[in-house]
Amino acid sequence: MPEGSALILSAPSGTGKTTTCRLLREKLPDLRIAVSHTTRKIRNGEKDGLDYTFISQKEFEDKIKNNDFLEWAKVHDCYYGTSFQATDTSLKTGHDTLLELDVQGVEALRKMKYQGVYILILPPSIKEMEARLKKRETDSEERIQQRIETGKREIKKYKMYDYVITNHVVEDTVNAILSILQAEKVRVSHYRPASADIEVLLNDEVD
Ligand code: 5GP
Repeated sequence: MPEGSALILSAPSGTGKTTTCRLLREKLPDLRIAVSHTTRKIRNGEKDGLDYTFISQKEFEDKIKNNDFLEWAKVHDCYYGTSFQATDTSLKTGHDTLLELDVQGVEALRKMKYQGVYILILPPSIKEMEARLKKRETDSEERIQQRIETGKREIKKYKMYDYVITNHVVEDTVNAILSILQAEKVRVSHYRPASADIEVLLNDEVD
């Protein structure tokens, strides 16, 4: 069975990532989500085990020691990590799997030559980003400015990604991601099921 594709998505805070991922899940019900672990506090409307697996700092550090993580990073004073468990089985059983990572996570995966399609989603402007963060009403002004600065640092690293999409209209962003995934399926290096088809074509006789 061919492995699923790892879809590695980064989006600075306030880029519309949550809505993008929700729509993506609706359009692709078979897409598996690699739910990350985090030590940050659960936000209103989030569900433990669905949005993140929320754990204590001690539990997270134990997991680091146990080598449970494919990658982990500290973002805004909290730990975030993707476990092997969240990705391996899903990919090996042929499911496309979404990994949502910050730029440090992407750097780590690129370093280990982790196979996947790397997509960065950008806000239409920093103003828009700030407006979205304010609307969320979860962060202080200082925290919002910190998130914007982190976002700018992430945007500077755009060359690490295979694709960059500006999120003007969320439906267009989701359609762009779907097109990328579709193209990924017919990439030669992923085209394993086709080897039989190619044999047939090469042995086909002309009348
Ligand atoms: P938030 O707290 O807003 O949900 O996420 C903060 C940042 O952490 C975002 O940039 C998000 O993409 C990133 N993040 C979420 N899960 C992971 C993970 O498993 N690993 C890494 N490296 N970053 C993550």
